[in-house]
Amino acid sequence: MKKETMCVHSGTYMDPNTGGINTPIYTSSVFHYIDTGKQPYPRYFNTPNQEVIVSKMCALEGAEDGVLFSSGMAAISTTFFSLLEPGDHVILQDEIYGGTHSFVTIQFENLGIGYSFVPTDSDEIEKSIKSNTKLIFIESPTNPLLSIIDIIKVAKIGKSNNILTMIDNTFASPINQNPLELGIDIVMHSGTKYMGGHSDICCGIILTDKNITEQIKPTSYHFGGSLNATTCALLERSLKTLNIRVERQTNNALKLAEFLINHKSIENIYYPGLASHRGYEIAKEQMHGFGAMVSFELADNSKKACEFLRSLKLIEPALSLGGIESTICSPALTSHRKMSEEERKRIGITDRVVRLSVGIEHIDDLIEDIDQALSC
Ligand code: PLP
Repeated sequence: MKKETMCVHSGTYMDPNTGGINTPIYTSSVFHYIDTGKQPYPRYFNTPNQEVIVSKMCALEGAEDGVLFSSGMAAISTTFFSLLEPGDHVILQDEIYGGTHSFVTIQFENLGIGYSFVPTDSDEIEKSIKSNTKLIFIESPTNPLLSIIDIIKVAKIGKSNNILTMIDNTFASPINQNPLELGIDIVMHSGTKYMGGHSDICCGIILTDKNITEQIKPTSYHFGGSLNATTCALLERSLKTLNIRVERQTNNALKLAEFLINHKSIENIYYPGLASHRGYEIAKEQMHGFGAMVSFELADNSKKACEFLRSLKLIEPALSLGGIESTICSPALTSHRKMSEEERKRIGITDRVVRLSVGIEHIDDLIEDIDQALSC
């Protein structure tokens, strides 16, 4: 099946009693277990509505199995706690999502797990390998500067050194990038973004092989970050339109980036679909589409980021991303506020950088709104 068809059909559990074509919402948290061969329970991550989502996402990412969580951070933290022990070492890109960055700097210290943050470059990753390195964690495109790392190279480095590789694939979504096919061991999504897609669901997912899933599940039972049946049903409905939404958002993003590239009020633009972007050639090879996130840095002499955001009439200044409505934020004040100012500046996240999540609106309306806000 093609992805458009998987989105609609994969995993759907037709109602055996009525023949209804949608998965019923199984609200029970308690199930009969004698002679059934199964013990479903929401915190065991094995209820019908949870399994339907895992099955659809496995089809979209080409995974054998996975675990659905109640947030992206639950997915990341539970996976780290499942696979790592005191004394292990982890290599991560320094540009990753601020929440993951702060989780590592605070929790790993407490747990006795070593870590190295490295620039978005596979050679830097290779150079940082130690005898106790257990995991390489990457993000591509990164949040918020849309940097691209060569995923195939990272996967090869992992395999040849016997180190697990994991990617945060949130920004690309399974429509624009499939890292397991490129050799990565574990894919993670903050489903709060494109999977949910309507800014009304918080969830996360891990997709990998059966063996790693079985290592993650027991820790998941302990931490308990599971998703309830009603939210799963909402999510299943959202996933049916994932392909069509992301395709439209991606097309809009490229047009917006092309409009912004020559704007006099913009100093830098970050979009991997522009030939001028540092990661363009690699992105062209490893992505099916360049994604729907566009970041840009306002020119030094233009208005401050906050004033620019206030001048927008249609695009909503808001946290998070991936919804059908376009939203925009200042990463220095939101997703990366916990990172030190020095570290932010070193990476390039200045106070003038804004991160735009492009929605499905008509492109002319989006361009008009940004143009008037930049010009007024
Ligand atoms: N990964 C990325 C790239 C994100 O942008 C976010 C949230 O903004 C997360 C992970 C964390 O996801 P959640 O907020 O669903 O816990």
